Amino acid sequence: MRSIVTDYLADALFRVEPDTSGQTAQYIPELAGANPESLAAVVATIDGEVYGSGDSDVEFTIQSISKPFVYALALADRGFDAVLDKVGVEPSGEAFNEVSLEHDTGRPLNPMINAGALTVQSLIGSWNSEPEDRGERVRQGLSAFAGRELTIDERVYSSEMETAHRNLAIAHMLRSRDVLTEDPRKVVAGYVRQCAVVVTTRDLAMMAATLANRGVNPLTNEQVVSGEIVRHVLSVMFTCGMYDAAGDWATQVGIPAKSGVGGGLIGALPGQVGIATFSPRLDEHGHSVRGVSLFERFSSDMGLHVMEIPSAASSVVRSNRVHDGERGPTRVLRLQGGIRFAGAERIVRDIEESGIDEARVVFDVALVFSLDAVALRLILEGSRRLIDEGREVYFVDPDGILARADVGDAVIVEELEDAVG
Ligand code: GLU
Repeated sequence: MRSIVTDYLADALFRVEPDTSGQTAQYIPELAGANPESLAAVVATIDGEVYGSGDSDVEFTIQSISKPFVYALALADRGFDAVLDKVGVEPSGEAFNEVSLEHDTGRPLNPMINAGALTVQSLIGSWNSEPEDRGERVRQGLSAFAGRELTIDERVYSSEMETAHRNLAIAHMLRSRDVLTEDPRKVVAGYVRQCAVVVTTRDLAMMAATLANRGVNPLTNEQVVSGEIVRHVLSVMFTCGMYDAAGDWATQVGIPAKSGVGGGLIGALPGQVGIATFSPRLDEHGHSVRGVSLFERFSSDMGLHVMEIPSAASSVVRSNRVHDGERGPTRVLRLQGGIRFAGAERIVRDIEESGIDEARVVFDVALVFSLDAVALRLILEGSRRLIDEGREVYFVDPDGILARADVGDAVIVEELEDAVG
């Protein structure tokens, strides 16, 4: 059978193809000459399935899409305090290359605009890393996110360096406020090299999927950065990733995203997929015109907005019945799905409100596939209170989802029959 998702992507490309508005990045000569007709879309799931359509293996430079990943590497190398001390996390509402800093502290407002990304570049590695070491750390780090060895396009690097006046101006301003403490020209060179890393749309989708998968690359299974760093980076992408179009993007598309003037655009949907598109004509914000249309389409067609309300918490209680077995009446709560705070609250409320009369209570977790820390605490506390009231409590747990939990005086059994007799 032909892949349904690939066919869907091909159809989406077909629909945006007639739009030839916008221009390739004119301020970097090598990018100005890119083939404006290139067009691709790739979806990568967090378990490593990749669906691509169009020019998904054509190479181009990553440009600003490197920013969230290099930010993640700096957080891993230096820790949150050292990085946040130098770069804020507030949306700027300004263009990517705005020459502006926070008035009082001199910090760049966020790591997605160039001022922030230049500062982040200086924070890669240890405090005394040489620029060459930082360059290699960035290349290797981006490769780990992509799951394959990436290289640098020296022509694009040299081309951008010839016209990097604005980034040099920003870097000198950062140096004058002591946000940068080294030669600003070297920092610009490092940043421009990071932007010149060569990727395909497929690579970008895999990098986004690594973010969506809490920092674990779905192909190599390497934990590239911690889950805590990923949550922070995705938050900054959501609020700042699309520069002065961030608010429109957050409301209409609702996927943490980042664009690059090479024509790439990525979105990472936590726990679901990484998506990437490629089309080099840009709008006035520096975002790919057809890329933005594709993402708008994907978000509404596939229901991908992160603020889409998930199924009601009450759905975690599949049934709450009294079972009449050999050992007398037993209250059986069959639970299901992924249980987080609101689901667990619903379970303990069911116990509290239904005024259980039975001497035995069973929590059947056979159909539960995940139970986060707070949900586990709530349910175990509910169990403890039932036991304190003099009842017996059982957990039906054939797959060992509670294997590492301390269930106290409750009893874990494999099957319902073992509990109700
Ligand atoms: N290297 C580009 C610059 O700094 C990246 C900009 C972008 O992709 O948004 O101008």
